[in-house]
Amino acid sequence: MLVARRELIARELAEGTGATIAVGSLEGGLRRGLRIWFDDLDEKHGPVAELRPYGLKSHRVHLAFGPFAARVLATIRAAEAEDVQLARSLVRSVARIAEVIVTDQGLDDWTVADARFGITATFRHDTINPDTDEAVILTCREVLVPLMAAMAELIGYDVVEEVAGTDLPAIEGALSRSTVNRRERNPRNRLLCLRIHGRTCRICGTDPEAVYGAAGSIIEVHHLEPVSMLHEPRPYDPETDLVPLCPSCHRAVHTRRPWPYTPEELMGMTGIHHG
Ligand SMILES: [Zn+2]
Ligand SMILES: [Zn+2]
Repeated sequence: MLVARRELIARELAEGTGATIAVGSLEGGLRRGLRIWFDDLDEKHGPVAELRPYGLKSHRVHLAFGPFAARVLATIRAAEAEDVQLARSLVRSVARIAEVIVTDQGLDDWTVADARFGITATFRHDTINPDTDEAVILTCREVLVPLMAAMAELIGYDVVEEVAGTDLPAIEGALSRSTVNRRERNPRNRLLCLRIHGRTCRICGTDPEAVYGAAGSIIEVHHLEPVSMLHEPRPYDPETDLVPLCPSCHRAVHTRRPWPYTPEELMGMTGIHHG
């Protein structure tokens, strides 16, 4: 049972971060705590997140860099502004449900300057016993995955899988097709979009996971922006510029080019009214 759940955790981490993740046990096995790191950087050369029980009802996750992380820290210092913004948004999304402290820095303007950087998140389990697999998995999903995804964004893991049948029509104009595609397919953008907006299609209200069960993680991320970018370019904000759409609705909004239909326009065309 524990082994199966460990695989589940590793899979969620890989999906959310776009990187290969190693999951190790702290003393006492999975129930007592976990160590998580990027497999290709190993434990000494990159960030490591440790999950431990804290108090009677909580888990505490501490993310820090290993002793030989100078190279990856240099990479992170060179990260683009958009990557930094997405990383901060991911950490802020954790702060909605857990107490998050970035060592000696603010939640909205932190940077990774050197190996003294650290993030501590304390997540309280009010309704379930924190010493259960269920609680450990919830902490992984809600805290570990977004924190590691934030680091993956800064490091620049760019695993954007080409899945057959998901090619979108070209979008031209102020925002290039490749920029939109990159944002729509970036696993960290997807993670943040689903954390903020849920897994229900914004247009038709379908929740693919409710319909297809385990085979239902097919909700897609749509980038709302292009039209206003034409007139007044502004910084991209993953919290407001992304919406979840089911594959059919996503395909439908992109049938108009170069500017896709807005969700409201498509809802008007289909006569769908909800929310
Ligand atoms: Zn839909
Ligand atoms: Zn789209």
